[in-house]
Amino acid sequence: MRFATKSIHVGEIPGEDGHGSMDVVVPIHLASTFARNKIEELPYGYEYSRTENPTRRALEAKLAALEGGKYGLAFSSGMSSISSVLMSFVKPGETIIAFDDLYSGTKRIMNYFSNTYGINIDYIDARVTENVLKAVKRNDRISLIWMETPTNPLLKICDIKAIAELSKSVSIPFVVDNTFLSPVFQNPLEKGADIVVHSTTKYINGHSDSVGGALITSNEEYYEKLKYIQNAAGTGLSPFDSYMVLRGIKTLHLRMQKHQENALALSQYLASRNEIRKVYYPGLPCHSQHTFAKENMKGYGGIVTVDFTNSGTARKFVERLKLFHLAESLGGVESLVEIPSLMTHSSISVKERDLAGIRDSLVRLSVGIEDPIDLIADVEQALEE
Ligand SMILES: *Cc1c(COP(=O)(O)O)cnc(C)c1O
Repeated sequence: MRFATKSIHVGEIPGEDGHGSMDVVVPIHLASTFARNKIEELPYGYEYSRTENPTRRALEAKLAALEGGKYGLAFSSGMSSISSVLMSFVKPGETIIAFDDLYSGTKRIMNYFSNTYGINIDYIDARVTENVLKAVKRNDRISLIWMETPTNPLLKICDIKAIAELSKSVSIPFVVDNTFLSPVFQNPLEKGADIVVHSTTKYINGHSDSVGGALITSNEEYYEKLKYIQNAAGTGLSPFDSYMVLRGIKTLHLRMQKHQENALALSQYLASRNEIRKVYYPGLPCHSQHTFAKENMKGYGGIVTVDFTNSGTARKFVERLKLFHLAESLGGVESLVEIPSLMTHSSISVKERDLAGIRDSLVRLSVGIEDPIDLIADVEQALEE
C-alpha cells in the first residue's frame, strides 16, 4: 500500500477491530476498563484503558504504517512523548547530544532533566555532521542523540542519514523529531534513525483541535521500554483525541501538498519586499541548505520564517495581519503568525536566543491551506505604510 491508502485504511479495517463491529471508522471506545468472564482470559486483549485502548491502538497502527515503522505509540502531547523517551533512556551522569535549535519545550524539559538529575546536554550546530562526531568523541556516557530537522524557527537542516550511520557505529539510540515535515515529506526511520517523535498537535491532526504526540520505532527493545513508560507514567492519548487524530490523518497527504504550495508562493512574495532582510524557507534557492533539502527531503513543509529590517516593523506586521491569527502553534489548516522571541521561545534565556540568532525582528509564519491569493493580499495590507 502507498501512503494515501495507508493513511485511510490501516488500523480501520471493518470487522478487524477485535470487537466484531463493521464500522468503517473506528469507534471512540470511552470505557476505562474491560470486563472478562474468567480471571485468566481477556477476550479482546484489553484490560484497562491507560494500558491499552482500541481507539488508541488503531491510531498507533496507522502512525507506525505512515512512518514505515513496526511500532507506534500515541501520547497525550508532543511533550509527553518526548518526556517518555527521556524517562525511558536517560540516566544520571549521562549526556544527550542535541541540535542547538530545538523546539523550546524540548529544551525546557531537557534543561529540567539536566538541573534535576545531573544530565549533561551537549548542544551543537548539527548542520555540520562533523560537530556530532566531535560531541560523540568528547563525551563518554552518551544516552541519546537528539535531532529535529528542519529546526524551529530557523529551519536549519541536519543530515539524518549521516548521523544515523554515526550513531549506529557507536551504538547510541538516535531520535528525530519529525513534526515539521510530517511523515509525508520525511521518514527518518528509513534513513536509519531509531525513534521518530511527532507532535500530532501540528500537521498530523492538522485542525488545531487536539493536543497529542507520537513515537514510532522498529526496534522491539526500544518499543517495550517506551510502552512500559506509556503505561507506568500514564502518558497515553485519550480515546477521544485518538479518534480526532485518526480523522485528521486521512487528509494529511493532501494538506501537506497545499501547505507547501502556499508556503512557496508566500516566501517568494516576502523575499521581494524590502521591509524584510531575510526569508528562511528550505524551498527557496537562497536558503543556505536548499540543495541538500532538494536532494534529501521529499518536501519543504509549510513554515516560513522572516527577519524584518527592524523589530518595530515586525511587531506592527503581526498585529495588522487579519487572516493569519496571532497565535502560537503551527501545522493547522488556518494560517498563524508569531514572534518567536516574545512568544514560543520566550522561555529560553536571552543569551541562548542571541546565540541561536532568534532576534525580536524574527517572525514565524505557519502557512495554512487557504487560497494563496488571499494570504498574499493579507500580507500586503499588513506591510502598507
Ligand atoms: C509543538 C512541538 C512539540 C511539542 O508538542 P506539544 O504537542 O505542543 O506538546 C515538539 N516538537 C516540535 C518540533 C513541535 O513543533
